[in-house]
Amino acid sequence: MIYLISACLLGCPCRYDGASKPIPENIRALLDTDTLIPVCPECLGGLPTPRPPAERQGERVINRRGQDVTAEYERGAREVLRLARLYRADGVILRDRSPSCGTNGIYDGTFTATLSEGMGVCAALLSREGIRIFDENRNDMTLKNKKIGDRT
Ligand code: SF4
Repeated sequence: MIYLISACLLGCPCRYDGASKPIPENIRALLDTDTLIPVCPECLGGLPTPRPPAERQGERVINRRGQDVTAEYERGAREVLRLARLYRADGVILRDRSPSCGTNGIYDGTFTATLSEGMGVCAALLSREGIRIFDENRNDMTLKNKKIGDRT
């Protein structure tokens, strides 16, 4: 199977703080059996690394400096969608809680580490466009989010 995957889940230092995280064991195991193609929607949208953290505030994405980065987030999401179709990917595996990649709850826009319902911009676009999305534990979030009305 072919999956696109949040690049930071493969150890790429593309997170907002420029740090890399270890590859989770369940993802490492997938490398033995499947093809994983790393994508970072925030980088693909033209944002630098490191960059100020950002959170969704309704339909907008605002960074901690108060700058509106919605256009960059949407551009990156469209690029991941294009790549998913180009590779005929079987799905996209996405990092939890990110304002781009989160599939099952994101921070609420107050920069207080408070979680709320909803998906990141990229996850929401992929879901709306019928691409199968998985959280980082490989739970299939497509059906779950459909049942509760494709929260964005
Ligand atoms: Fe990882 Fe997604 Fe954030 Fe990029 S946008 S650093 S892939 S969670």
